[in-house]
Amino acid sequence: MGYAKIHAVGLIGLVGHNVTVEAHIDRGQPRVVLSGLPDTVLGQARDRVRSAVVNSGFQWPDQRIAINLLPAALPKHGSSFDIAIALALLVASRQVPVELCEGLVPIGELGLDGQLRPVRGVLPALMAARETSAVTAVVPPENLREASHVEGIRVRGARSLRALVDGLAGGGGDLLEVPPSLDDPLDFEPDIADVVGQDSAKRALEIAAAGGHNMFLVGPPGVGKTMLAERLPPILPRLNDEEARDVTAIHSIAGALRDDEGLVRRAPFQAPHHSASMAALVGGGLGIARPGALSLAHRGVLFLDEVPEFRRDVLDALRQPLECGEISINRSMGVVRYPARVQLLLAANPCPCAAAQAMDCECAPAARSRYLGKLSGPLLDRIDIHLTLEPVSRAALLDEPDGVEHSEAVAGRVLTARRAAAARWDGAGFGAVSNAEVSGTRLSRHPWRLPRAVTGVADWMLDSGRITARGYHRILRIAWSICDLAGRERPDKDDLAEATGLRLGNNL
Ligand SMILES: [Zn+2]
Repeated sequence: MGYAKIHAVGLIGLVGHNVTVEAHIDRGQPRVVLSGLPDTVLGQARDRVRSAVVNSGFQWPDQRIAINLLPAALPKHGSSFDIAIALALLVASRQVPVELCEGLVPIGELGLDGQLRPVRGVLPALMAARETSAVTAVVPPENLREASHVEGIRVRGARSLRALVDGLAGGGGDLLEVPPSLDDPLDFEPDIADVVGQDSAKRALEIAAAGGHNMFLVGPPGVGKTMLAERLPPILPRLNDEEARDVTAIHSIAGALRDDEGLVRRAPFQAPHHSASMAALVGGGLGIARPGALSLAHRGVLFLDEVPEFRRDVLDALRQPLECGEISINRSMGVVRYPARVQLLLAANPCPCAAAQAMDCECAPAARSRYLGKLSGPLLDRIDIHLTLEPVSRAALLDEPDGVEHSEAVAGRVLTARRAAAARWDGAGFGAVSNAEVSGTRLSRHPWRLPRAVTGVADWMLDSGRITARGYHRILRIAWSICDLAGRERPDKDDLAEATGLRLGNNL
């Protein structure tokens, strides 16, 4: 006869829910009953825990054992409850004193040999645990660094169930401590200096970075679209603490975090292939939905190369999250929400034959215009900058220009511009947002409205129907980014002219 309960955490998406694992040992036919909505993996916990307990030198009680996970209505999944189940059993069978487990949250999977194995989602789980009476968390060694980013809870590691129990019995001194944190390599790789020629494309990339603008790159294969896209994250500002914790939590749940990785500080980069499924792109999967590339790119860059080749329904699924910065995924087990605030980079060949030189194109004119026309208006509506890339001439390739600029210098200007914009819009009561996030209506009203002498050409284009009101607003937003990069107070006529060129790009 015996009863024990151990604290644990269940995750629904990024949200941790506190769970109590109860064990009750009773006289009766030896068997194990597990209740509380377990999924298949959790159901197998019974076998894992039994082997781990026995192989760690403990006794398996040959009695009737009931394991219950509360609250019963909360869907639970995965193997992270293993250690809590084992400890509850050991306390209930009086092999471990109950005092050792007070204020303890154990998280991790058990191997059959009794070793602790890493699990996903430790960071968001511990963020929920610290809201309770928990004072100490014990996790597998591989999860230690990730766990250490949660403030307000002591974090220790253990290699095995035996080491965990011995460590607790010895006052915790033998448990593993958090390894000294690795410095985030503040490098700026891949370097924009690797891109030869393409000066106007590099300039557009810098403006996109400064204002958080979405961008559409059109150009023949081999012109460097992917190379450019990969060089956007290093010139974007580093994530602040809150952003870094959110991004790290998402990567942790997706199993995309390396053991030695600290908080993700660099803007993420995701480049899903055009054959990617709906689940891979926006999130999904069986049971409780996992984040897709869209959420893995949160606070960073989502790059869709060869965008006309993506499935239409997959692209359409991006529209709503791009609007609200969040994706909701409905599953039988409930709705899961993941953040999805991304900077979108689209790229396409000018036509289906993808000839390297325009003169080699074999496409019929109708096929050419249909190709990019396949992209839905609402998606292109989210794009501020349109950029057409031309092949670099042989002369430019061979020419070694002096004073080629590196990403570090560009990143410095981008950071200054971002700060100027955030301070300005925050002062105006819009929040510390980027230029791309400010509504066009606000920009065209007092006190942000620019004088006619500055907006003249754009006004004329709007009045004559050459651009839409939305297009006009995009030009204003880009112009503010150009002005921020130059360190000026207000956009001038030249800023408007450059912005207009970037807006019209391949529509000219
Ligand atoms: Zn063609």
